[in-house]
Amino acid sequence: MNKFLRVNDLKVYFPTDDGVVRAVDGLTFDLEKGTTLGIVGESGSGKSVTSLAIMGLHRGTRAKLSGEIWLDDVDLLKTTDEEIRGLRGSKMAMIFQDPLSAMHPYYTIGQQLTEAIRVHHNVSKKAARVTVVDMLARVGIPSPDKRFDQYPHEFSGGMRQRAMIAMALINNPELLIADEPTTALDVTVQAQILDLMRDLQKEFGSAIIMITHDLGVVAEIADDVLVMYGGKCVEYAEVDDAFHAPDHPYTWGLMTSMPRLDRTRLERLVPVAGNPPSLINIPPGCAFHPRCTFRDFASAPCNQVVPELVQSYPKHDSRCHIPAPKRAELFAEQIAPR
Ligand code: SF4
Ligand code: MG
Repeated sequence: MNKFLRVNDLKVYFPTDDGVVRAVDGLTFDLEKGTTLGIVGESGSGKSVTSLAIMGLHRGTRAKLSGEIWLDDVDLLKTTDEEIRGLRGSKMAMIFQDPLSAMHPYYTIGQQLTEAIRVHHNVSKKAARVTVVDMLARVGIPSPDKRFDQYPHEFSGGMRQRAMIAMALINNPELLIADEPTTALDVTVQAQILDLMRDLQKEFGSAIIMITHDLGVVAEIADDVLVMYGGKCVEYAEVDDAFHAPDHPYTWGLMTSMPRLDRTRLERLVPVAGNPPSLINIPPGCAFHPRCTFRDFASAPCNQVVPELVQSYPKHDSRCHIPAPKRAELFAEQIAPR
């Protein structure tokens, strides 16, 4: 069966005066309708660049893109600007981290949502208003009829985030990309927003890509998880497998440095020791090698040879020079007592 979204060997390179930034370097994944993929990584790992590439938002920049991004039967990288504008906001939509940057300060929430409908559909303002008020109610905005006529600055942070979700969902997109949608919010509102996204996914059957550095969010909402490091996928698995049996030293580090997942619903990702690589000067071989505490067990020189992404278990891929059974053994020995 064909997956709804298929990203194949996506590369996004930015030429700069100091060299080429390989922000995304050969990324492959797919996604079915009604399911959620969590893309996890530290800042600069290539998560946001991936989402912008899918949305076609690198057009008009110096970014060089290659590979394929199939949405249904359309390769998004081969669409014209006009075609991708038509898809954006209708077939696919994005929720950004900062709603203020995605909303116009001089127009009311209602005007902006109405416009979002009317760009794609030939409906009267009156009919659009009914749809908008209904959507504002669905995303949990109280007194939506009154809120319709307010400006973004009159909304609280949590309400603005809901309004932006409403804006993203107003045309029932089949693909929804959420880039750190809850980072700026307090934990209670975060949890409400995630519940809301899940409910709306059930109702509309959308495919969701949740981009985050927060493993708690992934555990909460995703079916599959893709862990990025230095522009590459280092581990790709079903969420339960990645959490209970992480198979890459980086993921293992993230999991074991994370406070106990069951303590609260949402936990911040505690970074593993060391710094993320500079994308302009990615370490040779395995980009993770300067931070990896397992490299003595590798079957190839980690600082010279780039490991391939290989399937170590059914539906569980990772990129490491240590043979999978040996990795499992090493991780088991090192599990910190809890
Ligand atoms: Fe560590 Fe080497 Fe595996 Fe990279 S390839 S994660 S450096 S052991
Ligand atoms: Mg980002």
